[in-house]
Amino acid sequence: MSGIPPFTPHELPETSRHKRAEVREFLMQQQASGTEFRSNSWTRVDRAFSEQCGSRGYIGATWPKKHGGQDLSPVEQFVIIEEMLAAGAPVGGHWLADRQSGPQIIRFGSERAKRDILPEIVAGRCCFAIGMSEPNSGSDLASVRTRATREQGGWRIEGRKIWTTNAHNAQYMTVLCRTEAGAQRHAGLSQMIVALPDPAASISPILNLADEREFNEVAFDGCFVPDDMVLGEPGEGWKIVTSELALERSGPDRFMSTVPLLREASALPVSGEAEVQRTIGRAIAHLVTLRGMSMSVSGMIGEGQSPNLQAAVVKDLGAVLEQEIVEIARDLIEEKASAVDDRLIRHFTRTTLEAPSFSLRGGTREILRGIIGKALTP
Ligand SMILES: Cc1cc2nc3c(=O)[nH]c(=O)nc-3n(C[C@H](O)[C@H](O)[C@H](O)COP(=O)(O)OP(=O)(O)OC[C@H]3O[C@@H](n4cnc5c(N)ncnc54)[C@H](O)[C@@H]3O)c2cc1C
Repeated sequence: MSGIPPFTPHELPETSRHKRAEVREFLMQQQASGTEFRSNSWTRVDRAFSEQCGSRGYIGATWPKKHGGQDLSPVEQFVIIEEMLAAGAPVGGHWLADRQSGPQIIRFGSERAKRDILPEIVAGRCCFAIGMSEPNSGSDLASVRTRATREQGGWRIEGRKIWTTNAHNAQYMTVLCRTEAGAQRHAGLSQMIVALPDPAASISPILNLADEREFNEVAFDGCFVPDDMVLGEPGEGWKIVTSELALERSGPDRFMSTVPLLREASALPVSGEAEVQRTIGRAIAHLVTLRGMSMSVSGMIGEGQSPNLQAAVVKDLGAVLEQEIVEIARDLIEEKASAVDDRLIRHFTRTTLEAPSFSLRGGTREILRGIIGKALTP
């Protein structure tokens, strides 16, 4: 039996203590100045907040200095990220660019893409959208039908993407397209960067359960992409997309989305009772374990490995915990209804409406369990 490879422990370096204290201080100041903090904050865009993060070096923190980064290790960056998520800071304006699009440009982008885009990301002025899913291609991503056709100096895109988070706020969108007709499913795909807005890319809202515009449908009608906005070589799209998956699935955003709600609900006066303490304690124990696993994945990525399997385990267990925390908050709120203010009710209501999506976005539960199951099959 092949089995799941180990989660090698990774310690936080001593220097991360100072970073943690500094980030906490910054977040307290932001909260005091009226910035809204709440659960599931990594999809919420607040331009001014992102620019503040940029000016403090909190975006692209692991990138080389020549690209505007701080050259920190992934585990040091982990500290910045977990502080932001534990507080519920509105990091959505730079989140995807920091977590996956920027690193992809550093690895696979042209000199022009590096020169034009990376400084904007680091400054907190650049929101990225990820165009993978299509109306009939979600889990089965290799079946994408959006097509890019060769033209003098570049490519022309025709097709539709769906569930594109924050496309309406984005300066750029990466688009997975088929560039070779009749090629095998995983061959002939390419990743392109489309600058937005573009008259040939129409972005229509899709409202989520909370009646908010979080994602979109994006239709490309002859949208032109110059050659130097293709990531890697044409035809390498599948390799590039799959290399994103460990980045996309293992970070603290995959188990900490509802921590701000847990913090608020556990501060209710009922939290002193034994049964309640046990429930909160169990959730915290799960959080601590997942944190160790996620840090381990982060360390492995830093060493140049692609721990896609371990990332799938973190994402699957993380989504279960994020959803369980909403139920724990419900019990606490019901128990102490008289002590609950309107703000907490609003926070709870929105998180309840967002929670079902936690086990869909970034790969559904069934798909992740399929990946894990295959690894355990001789
Ligand atoms: C909040 C949110 C934000 C998102 N943001 C983005 C984004 O920014 N960019 C982007 O590209 N996409 C985004 N997505 C899309 C997301 O990646 C897809 O919804 C997801 O991959 C599932 O694809 P699908 O919706 O087409 O469902 P389908 O693939 O049609 O699946 C439907 C059901 O069938 C099950 N299923 C499918 N295949 C199998 C199988 N082989 N074995 C067992 N069960 C299977 C699935 O688990 C699911 O329950 C987002 C989704 C959500 C909910």
